Amino acid sequence: MARQCPREGLLIMSQDNTGILIVSEADCQRLISRGDAFEAVEAVFASMARGDAYNFPVIREAIGHADALYGFKSGFDRAGLALGLKSGGYWPGNMAQGLTNHQSTVFLFNPDTGQLKAVVGGNYLTAVRTAAASSVSISHLARKDAKVLGMVGAGHQSQFQLRAAAEQRNFERVVAWNAHPDMLPSLERVANDIGLPFQAVSQQELAAQADVIISITSAHEPLIMAEWVKPGTHLACMGTDTVGKQEMDPQLFARASIFTDEVAQSISLGEAQHAVSAGLLDASAITPLGAVINGAHPGRSSADEITLFDGTGVGLQDLAVADVAARLAAEQGAPRVSL
Ligand code: NAD
Repeated sequence: MARQCPREGLLIMSQDNTGILIVSEADCQRLISRGDAFEAVEAVFASMARGDAYNFPVIREAIGHADALYGFKSGFDRAGLALGLKSGGYWPGNMAQGLTNHQSTVFLFNPDTGQLKAVVGGNYLTAVRTAAASSVSISHLARKDAKVLGMVGAGHQSQFQLRAAAEQRNFERVVAWNAHPDMLPSLERVANDIGLPFQAVSQQELAAQADVIISITSAHEPLIMAEWVKPGTHLACMGTDTVGKQEMDPQLFARASIFTDEVAQSISLGEAQHAVSAGLLDASAITPLGAVINGAHPGRSSADEITLFDGTGVGLQDLAVADVAARLAAEQGAPRVSL
């Protein structure tokens, strides 16, 4: 049975399997755990490395309105059957209106028919899928005996990063640095919440102490110098997702073994862009993390090796977690609409 929706043009269908699922931000927060996101992201990285899943070219444009950057990330996972796109971007004036500056929505399509399957809020999912990516890298590449977690950055994403990373190793404490020190107390509260002592330190102290370093800032210059990083460190560089952004000294790429979500993005808009353009790194030396997950690459080969994951953020990560959210919402009998 179908009934007319109060909103013009929409028809709410009875709870059968036809129509479009609407999965709100609140639903996503309720439905998707860090564990769900970890599993979905690990599986899609593996799928990408097998050649079963691929990302389509990214569109990102300054639209000349509200100072906004807007675009699409899309792809298809033939193994997981996730087809769709994430649409959204960055609206710098949103904060003043009580909204998050980053705004996104995921659209999932039926790969058999091309019909729209679900519209899924993308803001929370972006944070959990990004945290899941660094967390998957820590799981596969960090030393098992890592004790000190170093956080470079204290913005919105950093809190998700810290919670997800803390589940991967028996960390005993957190050291952190942020360009804007007034933002550190909110990250300290997260550390305290999960029972980890927290200390604000200089960038050099952070590199000297941390066994795992996560960088998640909007910086456009190196924050961590190569010579500060101690042997055996794993770095998850998550902030650089655009041409011109930078968090690491490019010389670090000559000392470390480099892994990424997608090589094409890593060398063009990821952290590796600077080392590649400086001639310090060749694309052929970068390993997709999925190859480690699949067992095609051994990953860390010694306790002293520095491993670096360049997490650029791919559309398939968004589709993977959104697909899980839509499936769980459907299982719980979420209502559907038709166009
Ligand atoms: P935010 O605005 O909440 O926080 C920004 C952070 O960057 C803060 O720690 C701030 O102090 C720091 N920062 C800003 N300018 C800086 C500068 N010039 N030098 C050093 N630090 C500076 O942003 P967020 O949502 O936490 O996102 C952080 C970064 O992560 C952004 O660059 C964002 O584009 C990126 N991001 C990447 C992915 C991915 O998949 N790789 C996903 C989401 C966000």
